Amino acid sequence: MSAAVSVSLRPAAPTAGAVLDIDLSAVGANTRRFAALTPALLAVVKADGYGLGATQIARTALSHGAIGLGVTSLAEALALRADGLTAPILSWLNPVDGDFAAGLAAGVHLAVGSIEHLDAVCRAARRTGRAASVHLAVDCGMARDGSPPLAWPALCARAGQAQQSGLVDVVGVMGQLSHAGRPRHAASQRGRAVFDWAVTTAAGHGLAPEHRHLATTAACLTDPRSMHTMSRVGAGLVGVDPSSTTLLAQVVTLRAPVVAVRDVVAGTGVGYGHTWRAKRATRLVTVPVGYADGIPRGAAGRAEVSVGGHRCPVVGGVNMDQTVIDVGRLEIELGEPVVVLGGEGPTLVEWAEWAQTLPHEILTGLGGRVARRYSGVSRDQR
Ligand SMILES: *Cc1c(COP(=O)(O)O)cnc(C)c1O
Repeated sequence: MSAAVSVSLRPAAPTAGAVLDIDLSAVGANTRRFAALTPALLAVVKADGYGLGATQIARTALSHGAIGLGVTSLAEALALRADGLTAPILSWLNPVDGDFAAGLAAGVHLAVGSIEHLDAVCRAARRTGRAASVHLAVDCGMARDGSPPLAWPALCARAGQAQQSGLVDVVGVMGQLSHAGRPRHAASQRGRAVFDWAVTTAAGHGLAPEHRHLATTAACLTDPRSMHTMSRVGAGLVGVDPSSTTLLAQVVTLRAPVVAVRDVVAGTGVGYGHTWRAKRATRLVTVPVGYADGIPRGAAGRAEVSVGGHRCPVVGGVNMDQTVIDVGRLEIELGEPVVVLGGEGPTLVEWAEWAQTLPHEILTGLGGRVARRYSGVSRDQR
């Protein structure tokens, strides 16, 4: 299975080890919440739906109010089409020699942030005889993707010509804020102003696109002034609020069964290099998940999990495939499920703090070997 485009449903193995439960009704609830905040909602399902299955998240979002899907690469867009999704899809980051013809054949909308990209898309349009639906991307202060403002008028001029000649249909202008979630920050004020200017400049070149989109999750939740005709929301749908202002429905629970139980005497060293030593006699259990399953190695020393309803510390480091937990005197049986994340266990945000990273990185890392089990599938999206 290719990492970039693994969108198929992976059922939990019958002899399941670790299982990632994904509650699609929570995704539905989050989607409805964002759909109520923005005139139109583009559900971002890049990186395999933030690690939870692009197709599943996409179907759920579409049946709860999203009008289309956003992904990074054309490969991700084509994988969604291959899974039968017919909704509008926007792909926003492709190399200049990307297979735009394949994208056009699949009806994928393309973001364009440079004249070189625009020209490549025009060549594909000429070759395939299909006008490309294009979103012009402007850099609103991230210096990452999108046209720098200095180059924007020329890009608009070229896009206007391409539209006149029937090669492209400019249906969108898009930008992104560097400090989304901090609406009063100078960078946000400047970013919003650049976007407004970019829309006006496009209009001066005869471009009046239906979709003008600047806001992502954090901006949707905190910055109504960044709201235009549409917003692109990914993290929020899967329960992550980068602005830390809002309680969203939690989507994932990771459980792993106890595969070893041992009682040890005081002074016992655990794991590689004995990075932890038992201060007193205690009971240790092992679960078959490690950093290859997305458990951040850097969280060791701080991380806890839930065993039998009790918070217990991870000890002796997170290994590639297994993790040891000090359960003290708890009576634990082989096979008992340990809640590693979500549910009555620690939250995504706790894991992110322990590992000094973002909840996004924890989520997208949970891919690999962990079986996925979906619940809360609504009837209209099977
Ligand atoms: C990832 C991404 C989004 C979604 O951002 P969230 O904070 O996850 O809502 C929107 N637009 C672009 C261009 C992105 O790369």
